[in-house]
Amino acid sequence: MPSASQEWHLVKRPVGRPAAGDFRLVERALPLPGDNEVLVRNTYLSMDPYMRALMGAAEADIPSYQLDRPMTGGAVGEVVESRAAGLAPGDLVLSDLGWRTAAVADAGRFIRLRRVEGVPDSAFLGVLGMPGLSAYVGLIEIAGLREGETVFVSGAAGAVGSLAGQIARLRGAKAVIGSAGSDEKVKYLTGELGFTAAFNYKDGSVHEQLRRAAPTGVDVYFDNVGGDHLEAAIDALKPHGRVALCGAISGYNATEPPPGPRNMVDLVKKRLTLRGFEVGDHAALQPQFVRETSNWLVDNRITFRETVEDGIGNAVNAFLGLMYGRNTGKMLVRI
Ligand code: NDP
Repeated sequence: MPSASQEWHLVKRPVGRPAAGDFRLVERALPLPGDNEVLVRNTYLSMDPYMRALMGAAEADIPSYQLDRPMTGGAVGEVVESRAAGLAPGDLVLSDLGWRTAAVADAGRFIRLRRVEGVPDSAFLGVLGMPGLSAYVGLIEIAGLREGETVFVSGAAGAVGSLAGQIARLRGAKAVIGSAGSDEKVKYLTGELGFTAAFNYKDGSVHEQLRRAAPTGVDVYFDNVGGDHLEAAIDALKPHGRVALCGAISGYNATEPPPGPRNMVDLVKKRLTLRGFEVGDHAALQPQFVRETSNWLVDNRITFRETVEDGIGNAVNAFLGLMYGRNTGKMLVRI
């Protein structure tokens, strides 16, 4: 039974790309669980791009990590000791008490998970978790994907993008085009994931590569990247095209606000709709999403990959790896 937890603290707010020296691994004794509390040993930690935003200074209604305090993030773990009704030793749970090996906290901080046969526990941080729901919500609710449409997904080999492309295919898209940062990832998209076409955005202009991949234009763009990808997509969108603005990772380490797309007037001319969303606002869709996605997984109609770093000591490396494109599929730390 763990009597201490190793946990990562942010000790310095990064300027630009975060560096290892901005973080410190700290060991802390754990109290015994009190009334309605549980002791949980984490087994997988989620590494997510949004964490970069939490490393900056807090603004009006934007939260941030406190310095010299344990960071938070998605985690799955196993209940070791419980003094709460409804949670028993051995239960698999999801929490936001990541970036640490173990935690003692109020039972309300944990959601009990029901395992899906043949699917690893780590999937609750990826394909069956927050990234998967983001893909589902973005395509279906926000962009309103319809059968027969052409879809472009950026960041397509990542946790959200790889599912967005597959859901588009399963929901009847005529063509699904993806962009990613290496030739290996491009092969993964058109091979294993069934994208119609894909390109390496580091090989040349996104604008030209997208035009070649979608010569008749795009109906829906699922944006994970922003910047030049968004500008190229606005150019390639057909009249009345829709964009689900999920993220803009190309600007997350910028020290100045990146310039906006230069072709904003096309939004008017082509009557385009660009709509941002936060997955947390769409929790009501979670049961429908888990049901539909679990069926696709069990029937082998979708597939997923994970990039797993071992040990709490490698969590910062794993997080930094997201910024360098070291992950294919979901980036995780196994404890
Ligand atoms: P990913 O698994 O996609 O990992 C990040 C990937 O981004 C890297 O693997 C890398 O792939 C790519 N990348 C890094 N830097 C750049 C760059 N400068 N230009 C282009 N691509 C870059 O992460 P997620 O799937 O978890 O998240 C994808 C996006 O969705 C992020 O923008 C994230 O913030 C957003 N998001 C939004 C949510 C919401 O509620 N709106 C919820 C969850 C995620 P490559 O090798 O292709 O460069």
